[in-house]
Amino acid sequence: MKKYDKYDVETIARMIDGKLPWPELRLILSEEKDSDRFEKVMEILQKRVPWKEKILLPLHEHLYIVSKEGKRIVKCDCGYEFGDYRENWKTKCRIRVRDTNESLDEIYPPYMHSDPQWEEIREYYCPGCLTLLDTELASPGYPPVFNFLPDIDTFYEEWLGRSAPDRKGA
Ligand SMILES: [Zn+2]
Repeated sequence: MKKYDKYDVETIARMIDGKLPWPELRLILSEEKDSDRFEKVMEILQKRVPWKEKILLPLHEHLYIVSKEGKRIVKCDCGYEFGDYRENWKTKCRIRVRDTNESLDEIYPPYMHSDPQWEEIREYYCPGCLTLLDTELASPGYPPVFNFLPDIDTFYEEWLGRSAPDRKGA
C-alpha cells in the first residue's frame, strides 16, 4: 500500500465537524486517503466521547459500536447503551410516528406530504439524551429499517490488516 500521510489530526477533526471550506474539502475527498486516516478519525472520536469503552467502529451520527466486557454493543455519545450491535438499535429508541395528516402538516407545506395511510414518518430518539438519531419513511406496518450491520472482523482483518482491538490475543 502506498504510504500517503498528508493531513494532520486537526484538519481531520475540522473535516468531521464540517468546518473545512469547500475548496479544501473537495481536494481531500478527491485524493487518495491517508493510509492512517481510520486511526486518526478513531483517535478524534474516542477523545470526544465521555466514556472509556473502546470504539470499534462509528455506526451512525452519535452512535458507535464499542467493546464492553467482551461484548460488542451500540452506544450513544451520551452513554446510553442499546445492546448487541447485531440487533436493530432503533427498537430501543423512543419513537414518534407521524401517521396523521395533522402531524405531517407540522413539517410539510400544505398538500405536500404523502397519504399517511400509505406512508408514515418515524422519528427515532435516543432514550438517554433525546437526540433525534434518525428518521425513516415506510409503509405502515413495515418493520424498523435495519440501516447497517458491519462485518467488524472482516473490516479490520482485510482492510486494516490487523485484528479488531477486542480480538487481540484471542
Ligand atoms: Zn444519547
